[in-house]
Amino acid sequence: MKPTLAGLARDGLRTALAAAGVPEKQLRMRVEQISSWIYAHGATSFDTMTDVSKQLRARLQEQWTLERPQIVTEQISADGTRKWLLRLPRRGHEAQAPEIETVYIPELNRGTLCVSSQVGCTLTCSFCHTGTQKLVRNLETSEIVGQILLARDRIGDWPGAVPVQDRGMLPASEKKITNIVLMGMGEPLYNFDNVRDAMEVAADGDGLAFSKRRITLSTSGVVPQIVRWGEETGTMLAISLHATRDELRDTLVPINRKYPIAALLEACRNYPGLSNARRITFEYVMLKGENDSVADARALVRLLAGIPAKINLIPFNAWPGSQYECSEPEVIGKFADIVNAAGYVSPVRTPRGRDILAACGQLKSASVNVRASQRAPATSA
Ligand code: SAH
Ligand code: SF4
Repeated sequence: MKPTLAGLARDGLRTALAAAGVPEKQLRMRVEQISSWIYAHGATSFDTMTDVSKQLRARLQEQWTLERPQIVTEQISADGTRKWLLRLPRRGHEAQAPEIETVYIPELNRGTLCVSSQVGCTLTCSFCHTGTQKLVRNLETSEIVGQILLARDRIGDWPGAVPVQDRGMLPASEKKITNIVLMGMGEPLYNFDNVRDAMEVAADGDGLAFSKRRITLSTSGVVPQIVRWGEETGTMLAISLHATRDELRDTLVPINRKYPIAALLEACRNYPGLSNARRITFEYVMLKGENDSVADARALVRLLAGIPAKINLIPFNAWPGSQYECSEPEVIGKFADIVNAAGYVSPVRTPRGRDILAACGQLKSASVNVRASQRAPATSA
């Protein structure tokens, strides 16, 4: 099967073009051209690349495609949220093609794409559906970028394309995807290099052109990588806090046993570029009877004092077999009042796409990691 060029960073394109026989002194120019076709124009066929010689197009076509991840299902929620189950190309050693989910959330004046970074997750946060799926593997750079390309194709978000309006509402903004959040399946800081390279492609001003301020990485708290992420990428940061005491956070977000709250907040204080204009978002899932008391709200406000922060209260989204319940609306209201009074505006996140299991923490694919010893033996001829 031919690999795809769509989703590769510049060095990947360069290697591909060199292999297709482009002479060294032309490489730079050709990389610019092809990357502009793929990322600024959304080319899905080499034929449209009119400033590339027919000969080179033919050579590229022999070895490469411009395919996106393959759509297994596309679901549209009653509220316009869209979820795609995507199948990725199978790698040599993989028993089955891995699958991931990507979600698009339209609002009045913005559209957010929630991108996955891993198939499954190594972590096991007790309230998260993805956490029940063992890690199958990290996504390649091209598979992370591929989610953005595919979403743009499906909603007609390329220059000159007609936006696709079937049932889903779209924002009034010119670009239909304005924001990227690394809040899909997986812990993005455990796939650091590929996620970083993918966000470089997303932020390339001559290509997909997302501002770094509209890209947010969410982490469960991989402390040693937080400052490094900020230094190397400059994107916005969100922290899955969910508890104010180590004892409780140890059970909700088990990575806390390795990197407790004090260490996590210290890394946050050192996040490059942190200021009142560039705040860290602290995510806090509202779990009935677990972390939703008035005392918890006060502790949260105290804990974050002095850090330029936004607080995002996320009503718990249930999934088949989950052991928690969402806090009652009045309890969330009371909690939000305390957070509000401390100066944080509109802190409650409206759940989106719950009916199609597309809301925060509901993503999971059926892909499993099959060990070599469990695979059917190859039959010899
Ligand atoms: N692994 C990263 C990013 C993906 S999860 C992280 O943990 O930050 C995106 C957000 O959804 C995280 O804040 C996560 O804690 C939250 N979340 C997980 N399961 C949830 C659920 N069932 N209901 C609401 N939010 C959930
Ligand atoms: Fe993994 Fe994030 Fe889910 Fe925790 S909340 S299991 S880190 S995806």
